[in-house]
Amino acid sequence: MSFDPLRLRREFPIFAERAKSGRPFHYLDNAATAQAPDAVIEAVADADRRHRANVARGVYRLAEEATAAFEAARGEIGRYLHAPGDEIVFTGGCTAALNLAALSLGDRLSPGDRAVISTLDHHSNIVPWQLLKARRGIEIVAIPVTEEGGLDLEALARLVGPKTRIIALTHGSNVTGARVDLPRAAALAKTVGALLVVDGAQVAPRGPLDPRALGADLYAVSGHKMFGPTGIGVLWGRRELLADLGPAFGGGGMIGEVRLSGSTWAKPPARFEAGTPPIAQAIGLAAAANWITSLDHGAVEAHLNDLTARLLDGLAALDRQERRIRVIGPPARPGRLAVVSFHVEGLHPHDICQVLDESGACVRGGHHCAQPLMDAFGLAGTTRASLAAYNDAADVDALLAGLERAIEVLA
Ligand code: PMP
Repeated sequence: MSFDPLRLRREFPIFAERAKSGRPFHYLDNAATAQAPDAVIEAVADADRRHRANVARGVYRLAEEATAAFEAARGEIGRYLHAPGDEIVFTGGCTAALNLAALSLGDRLSPGDRAVISTLDHHSNIVPWQLLKARRGIEIVAIPVTEEGGLDLEALARLVGPKTRIIALTHGSNVTGARVDLPRAAALAKTVGALLVVDGAQVAPRGPLDPRALGADLYAVSGHKMFGPTGIGVLWGRRELLADLGPAFGGGGMIGEVRLSGSTWAKPPARFEAGTPPIAQAIGLAAAANWITSLDHGAVEAHLNDLTARLLDGLAALDRQERRIRVIGPPARPGRLAVVSFHVEGLHPHDICQVLDESGACVRGGHHCAQPLMDAFGLAGTTRASLAAYNDAADVDALLAGLERAIEVLA
């Protein structure tokens, strides 16, 4: 049976809500934030409605229920990442997870140690390392990108050396849609004993995965890109590594004992979760992970690949007419992320987005928090469409028709 995105869409109340206005609605900004299905919205509401209390503190029944629900969510995220619950650290988002990684790892670094970062990455996996450079005097070098908008792992082989302690890179680009071959990067990291820190924000929404088997040491995930709530993310880490790292933030919940003369730390993951965690959001994220797990992944992958091909073909056809469209990213192929960035010569992405909004197409224009990548392509920004399983050919066609109109109007 073929995959039916319209049936799936019925699980997402936003589509019925937006339809009430009578305006077309083509949500194509899923790489920024994916919509949430009823299962997630209900899980969050239910947590607040039925067992709202702080976790890991009170001993009354309500607090114990809240703690049990929160810890069950940790276990479910663990299943999604093929990991035990105690390797799952809840954070405020993917950015928070990567900053936590940089801060905790930073304590182990000395001046002259090298962190290899990547030109393909989101600012979230660049700036925390630059902050560390200022604090710890480490050296930073960056892996270049290929013509196709992938990561040049040949170059990585030349950049790693005996002083390399960290390799921080993305699992898949939020701009070009290229995926990164993690096992290959992990093998290079191993040759010098470096740790591999991975930004999984764009790949984790595609289905359950096993960061340990892929060779990552730390793997960061964003809740709201996974059809889950905002304000929640995850840092997965190998148990042995987490046990060896110190905390980045201090406060309630992360301690063993506190004396005015000094404190001791709780075991991971609590050691990295100072203060009240995002409780309902963690429960909502577990619902999102379970919802994704329930999909037919083969069908979803094929559907997204077809839509990506349709969009790329449409852009190529428009370019044959106009000769002004440049796509930054690889051709459609299995595994490519359904993120398509393009530049229309002479037009500003924000102007394009505004005209597209008139046709109800929500797309993003700008540097996408990836300015070094834009620099590598000599661009200030691109227009980006990013697809999710609930998108269909009509969404892509609306975008293409809107773009044709934008080129006419703005020329
Ligand atoms: N990394 C990538 C690749 C992203 O696309 C984003 C979101 N734009 C982030 C990190 C940041 O995620 P969060 O919003 O959860 O902090």
